[in-house]
Amino acid sequence: MTIEFPLVINGRWREGAARQGQDVLNPATGESIGKVAHANSTDLDEALDAAARGLVEWQGVSPWQRGAILKSAADHLISDIDSIARIITTEQGKPLAEAKAEVTRSAEFLEWGGEQARRIAGRTLRGRVAANRIEIETHPIGVVAAFTPWNFPMALAAKKFAGALGAGCSIICKPSEETPGSVLALAKALLSAGVPPAAISIVFGRPEEISNYLIPAAAVAKITFTGSIPVGKQLAAAAGRVMKPVTMELGGHAPTIVCGDVDPERAADILARAKFANSGQICLSPTRFFVEESVFERFTARMTEHAKAWRVGDGMDPKTQMGPLANERRVQAISHLVEDARQRGAKIAAGGNRIGNRGFFYAPTVMTDVPENAEILHSEPFGPIVPVLPFKDENEMLKQANGLEFGLSAYLFSNDAARQRRLTDALHFGTVGVNEFVTHLPEVPLGGWKESGFGTEGGIEILSPYQKTKFVSVW
Ligand code: NAD
Repeated sequence: MTIEFPLVINGRWREGAARQGQDVLNPATGESIGKVAHANSTDLDEALDAAARGLVEWQGVSPWQRGAILKSAADHLISDIDSIARIITTEQGKPLAEAKAEVTRSAEFLEWGGEQARRIAGRTLRGRVAANRIEIETHPIGVVAAFTPWNFPMALAAKKFAGALGAGCSIICKPSEETPGSVLALAKALLSAGVPPAAISIVFGRPEEISNYLIPAAAVAKITFTGSIPVGKQLAAAAGRVMKPVTMELGGHAPTIVCGDVDPERAADILARAKFANSGQICLSPTRFFVEESVFERFTARMTEHAKAWRVGDGMDPKTQMGPLANERRVQAISHLVEDARQRGAKIAAGGNRIGNRGFFYAPTVMTDVPENAEILHSEPFGPIVPVLPFKDENEMLKQANGLEFGLSAYLFSNDAARQRRLTDALHFGTVGVNEFVTHLPEVPLGGWKESGFGTEGGIEILSPYQKTKFVSVW
């Protein structure tokens, strides 16, 4: 078997002990671009041993120097941005310009984590009697097991590497088997910059087998996952059984409120770009469009125009505005949500169909008259679908907006300051974008409320999920 996407364990790039693997597909063609290696328990034991040694070695590198290494890794990514972006587009599907933006954002995360490493500090308190001094020390939490998805295969891993490595932890990452090249490129940049080989392992395989093995492993101290709510719950439960802390960045279903006081065409222009970015496969994507009745017709007409004119194609073509969905599962899931809504009486204003029979393309879709019981209004769509829902009564709309288990992001379009304040206060979400879409910036802590997650990533606290404190009392 030829392996184009190997495991990386202790600095060795190699196939798995059982010499097994799976095809990696280009979503624009549906054809294989190579095979990704699968790890078995022998490989995972090797990764665990390496990570335990890597932890000691990396902890021995001063935070100042760790910062320099992470900054250098960021520079490696940027100097190789064109070829890395082509890897992302080939295995994930997004247009090349979006792939380049992802590489830039990944580099920014590494740089930010490195900068925060240089600020690691403890504190001292005076004890309750003069002879006593209290020291509060900050330590790396230990070996991190990270599970990362396919939608931003590099950036969502880079966030975790930036926090974990910045804090002084070693990390074993299991990226999505569907997009292995992106994280391998990240590992290459980190190793070239000087992260000790034992401190980073990349393993692929059967996701459930790997998480079942790594989470209870004695060497692992922290679990971090980005993906769907159901899988997040499984992993958090497994971590709970062995009392290990988790960070969970899970799905969303963002209410997007367009008030009557804004220019509805301008709101539709902004929201079409937001919605069709990465073919709608963004956890922060706007997904339920509540539009005030007075501007409903104009908003829907403009959004429909955009959906019909949006150029869908291979992400390698510079004219492409939206690439394919990432895999056949997504095409099936989106087709199901659209059919379900149609059968319940929704009207399709644009799209509503798969495009062609090669690759995983789905048309940008706008629907109206979507009944409250349609599945799309309850399940995270993760695709290019715009259900437009007119509203008259703000309180009724808010009940619906806040009424799901999701609490990741929400959007509001209004120029009325009092209304902006009232609605941003009333929305039960970890992120609220007013008059614009929101992306994850390194300088901002991002995390979901309710079932959308646990903990945050990014911000001045980017290292915190990977740190523990020690209280030392000196007499
Ligand atoms: P999924 O939940 O099956 O997989 C998501 C990721 O989790 C993949 O990388 C997969 O390899 C990994 N995974 C799955 N089961 C695992 C397990 N038992 N142990 C460890 N890792 C495991 O979903 P999917 O079909 O790939 O995507 C569908 C849904 O996932 C989407 O509808 C969306 O809700 C969600 N999703 C969210 C994000 C996000 O950024 N929050 C990213 C990708 C997918």
